[in-house]
Amino acid sequence: MIVTDLPGYPSLREYQRIVGTKQFSAIEELAGRLSGVRLQEINSTRYGGGVSEILISYVPFLNALGLETTWSVMEAEPAFFDVTKTLHNFLQGRGGGFSPAMIETYWEAQRQNEGLIEDDSDVVTIHDPQPLGLVEFLTNRELERKRLLWRCHVQLETVPTATVGSIGNILRRLVEKYHAGVFSSFQYLPLWNVPSFIIPPFIDPLSEKNRDLPLSEIDATLAKYGIDPEKPIVTQVSRYDVFKDPVGVIQAFKKVRQKMPCQLVLVGGRACDDPECFIVLREVRETAEDDPEIHILDLPPDSHREINALQRASDVIVQKSIKEGFGLTVTEGLWKEKPVVAGSVGGIPLQIRDGWNGYLVSTIRETADRILHLLRNPELAVEMGARGKEFVREYYLLTRGVQDHLTAVDQVVN
Ligand code: UDP
Repeated sequence: MIVTDLPGYPSLREYQRIVGTKQFSAIEELAGRLSGVRLQEINSTRYGGGVSEILISYVPFLNALGLETTWSVMEAEPAFFDVTKTLHNFLQGRGGGFSPAMIETYWEAQRQNEGLIEDDSDVVTIHDPQPLGLVEFLTNRELERKRLLWRCHVQLETVPTATVGSIGNILRRLVEKYHAGVFSSFQYLPLWNVPSFIIPPFIDPLSEKNRDLPLSEIDATLAKYGIDPEKPIVTQVSRYDVFKDPVGVIQAFKKVRQKMPCQLVLVGGRACDDPECFIVLREVRETAEDDPEIHILDLPPDSHREINALQRASDVIVQKSIKEGFGLTVTEGLWKEKPVVAGSVGGIPLQIRDGWNGYLVSTIRETADRILHLLRNPELAVEMGARGKEFVREYYLLTRGVQDHLTAVDQVVN
């Protein structure tokens, strides 16, 4: 089969070097079997957010494999995104009422994007609830000829009610029109009548966020933010969100620092349109009390290389979440051969085996004890880090995501 590397993207052979010939051959074989099948991906944003991060790597990868794949992004007014944010929270089990006006705003955006599904696509993957309703505009003939997958990245916690006209009921009716659903974990399977695939999230080992960096760049990043390269570094990368518990991280760090000199780096985003984010950030600053060993960074959304450098410079990565869909920051830390101390919630236990490639924690005291133990035992940290990297290589890289997705496509097509 023909592999055509796309200009500006990493070569497929680089991925092959990372994951080995066996997995790569399996992917090539699947791509060969699907030769001629036209794929289309549809989501609601080109930049920012986990789904676009995935598609940025994934779409060129499939094209380089010889599978013609297009990526379409729906366009809509800001009011639509307010509605879908409420929808997202509702699906994650965080309340949210839906007025008839909100439901109408949802449908208005679907109508505006009616023609987005291409006539000649064979397998269309629709990501998340935003473009879910586009299925309504396909004729029965099109629905018979095409295969439609709904890829749900949301941590589904709310089982929709049967009340006719309720938002849950509308979603269920739409999803059941698809040929299959794709969910990130068994935990999030809905009780709906749709065949389902489980495909966990993944990271791209050759992206700016994850590729190897020269030591000089890592040193320069530390210097830029006034972080001492000679003193142990503990880092959490996360949006300033209560569920990521940055305040708990500072409290744990303060306990560690009483026993051993070290620094804490909290990396979060400036581009936060979420009013709660400012409240959390204020609380973080108050808890940090201008401590010079606590670096609270507020980085622009495209700071991938700097975050990469900070993760690589760290001795321990923390992700003390109290709720977490999957936790890509955990995957990123493990890939960089760092032991990760993280909350035992959501998708984190799918990545961390307690005591093997990191520690699962629930309390501030436990978090502090585990961090201290790793800082005092650097050889153990190195051992755990090495295991973490191999674990991610096996289960959570882009190549595995492509392999799983093509397996699902193969099953719905053939
Ligand atoms: N991230 C980032 N800048 C920030 C905070 C986070 O680029 O200021 C990235 C982080 O490296 C990871 C993603 O955003 O790739 C967060 O994904 P995760 O699954 O950990 O959490 P989510 O934010 O989706 O709840």
